[in-house]
Parts: sequence; C-alpha cells; structure tokens
Amino acid sequence: MARFFNRMRGGDKPVEVAPEPKRPPRELKPEPDRIGISGSVPFVRLPNPETLFADRARRLDSLAPEHPLGAYLAFLARVATAQAVVQTAQAGTPPLTPSDTALRVEHGMPPLSSSLLRDDPSFLDGFDRLLAVVDLAAAPDSTRSARDTLCAATPDDRLDLAVQVFEGAFPMERLGECVFASAAVQVYLARQSARLDGKALKPVADGICPACGGAPVASLVVAWTAADKARYCACSLCGTLWNQVRIRCTACGSSEGVSYYGLDEVSKDVQVETCTTCHSYIKHLHQHRNPALDPVADDIASYGLDLKIAEDGFGRAGLNPLFLT
Ligand SMILES: [Zn+2]
Ligand SMILES: [Zn+2]
Repeated sequence: MARFFNRMRGGDKPVEVAPEPKRPPRELKPEPDRIGISGSVPFVRLPNPETLFADRARRLDSLAPEHPLGAYLAFLARVATAQAVVQTAQAGTPPLTPSDTALRVEHGMPPLSSSLLRDDPSFLDGFDRLLAVVDLAAAPDSTRSARDTLCAATPDDRLDLAVQVFEGAFPMERLGECVFASAAVQVYLARQSARLDGKALKPVADGICPACGGAPVASLVVAWTAADKARYCACSLCGTLWNQVRIRCTACGSSEGVSYYGLDEVSKDVQVETCTTCHSYIKHLHQHRNPALDPVADDIASYGLDLKIAEDGFGRAGLNPLFLT
C-alpha cells in the first residue's frame, strides 16, 4: 500500500493516495521479466565517470533554485563540478590495478578495498586537485574552513580520513571535511569500478555494493533494461548500480512489511521504501518516469521525506556521504 504524507490536506497524518496494488505473497518470488532478475537484466551497471559527475552537477544546479536546501545543493553542484574536473584531468591515467581482485571476488568480497587509496598515488593526487579547484566563493565560512583545514593537514592525515570514509566511519568532529574526502573517494572509485568486469561481480550481501562494499544511497526503478521496471541499488561511493528484486528490503532482505511513502511537496517520482522487519528505509526513485533523477542529488532534495519518516521510527538503511546529518 502506498501512502502519501499530505501536510496540506492531512496535517501530519499519512493519507492514502493512489495506492499501488498490494501484491499477493506469491508474487514476491522472483519473476524474471517483472522484477528484473532474468538473464536479460545485468546484475550490475558499472558507472560512467565521464558523465556521472557532470550530470550530477547539472541536476544539483537544477534542483537548487527555490529549494529550502538550495544553498547546500548549489554548494554540492560546485563539488560535483570539481569532481568532473578531476575525473577529466585523470582520465588518461589509469588507476592502479588491484592485484587481488579475482581472489576477493572468489571469496565473496567486493574487489575494491580501502587499501587502494594508500597504494595508488593517483588517489591523493585527485583529492588534492579537488581541494584546489572546488569553487567555494559562495560557500559559508565553515565550508571554506573545512577545505582549508584539509589543505593544511598532512597527506597521511588526508589519506586516513579518506580511508575512514571508504569504510563508513565518519568522525563527528570532521563532518565538514568528510564531504570533501567523500567526493574524492567517489571520483577515484568510479574510475576503478568502471574498469571492472561487471559480469564477474557477484552479490556480496544485502545493502552492500558488489564492487566496493559501499552502502546504497538510493534505490532506482529504471527503464533501460529489457525487463520492465527493474530495480537497482545505487552505490553511495563508486556509483555502481546493482540489481535487487523489487518489494524487498535493501537492508535485511525481507519481503514482508515493505511499504512506499511520498510527500506532496516532494516529486511523486521520489518515495521512501520502508521495512517494518528492520525498521529501515531507503529512497526509491522512479527514474523510469524521470531519467534526470540522480540518486545522490535527489536523495538530498527530498530531505523532507527523511524528516517525516524518521518521526515514524524508521532509520536510514543507506548512506549519502555528501549529506551527513
Ligand atoms: Zn560501490
Ligand atoms: Zn528490512
């Protein structure tokens, strides 16, 4: 049952609008062409770094005007632009090829590990270049200060912070710096993931990127597969998409108690998927209806959904490293 919070008409109480038909339990089993797990649907879609960040910058710029979080979206548009600049500058320099990729996949692990950040000098080069080129002219003093602190830190300190970000550990006292570290990690991992053999990747676990082990930032229903409306999780770090059957929790794998919610003031193409088994939620983007939707940008732009669904006791299943709240 899809329910829409409607502050205009229903106050804070959820009201039911245009409910999706409840599928009987038998339909929750894999159905090749309905939920996207047939051979015609790739398990992963690797990122295209050449377009990923430039497209995201455009999306953030288009979302910023008139938005309550407009200043932050505009700042992230500048960050995404800097990511695109770094990506272009490093396009001719292949990243270090991990030596243990096959072994890690064979043992059920994502092929990309945090040790790459230390082993490959191109990561720190990209991080430093990003800090140098990002346009913070319109950013608040605290943001410029975070950038300056990182620039003044030692290379080892920047590396340590990036490794923590890769591993999902964000020091509370350094959240402002973490945004820049996350952006640098995203650029590097997108380049690395794009070079992987997508057909060799295997599922690792629910809510884990099969390429880098990152958490999903959002879930997308897409239109570019042969199957109708296949669903993919989008990695918050490397940008890889991995297929996951619909109406199944991306965190715990349960198919029971999965519901969808929206808000009137948020596009109907952006919902949250909640799970009453583990009480988590994830944004659910109908990219098949609006191809411009970007998992990172539209997750932030729909922050009203996070606030509302948190009131109901649900916790975020994934992570958006550019929006640490
Ligand atoms: Zn990933
Ligand atoms: Zn769950």
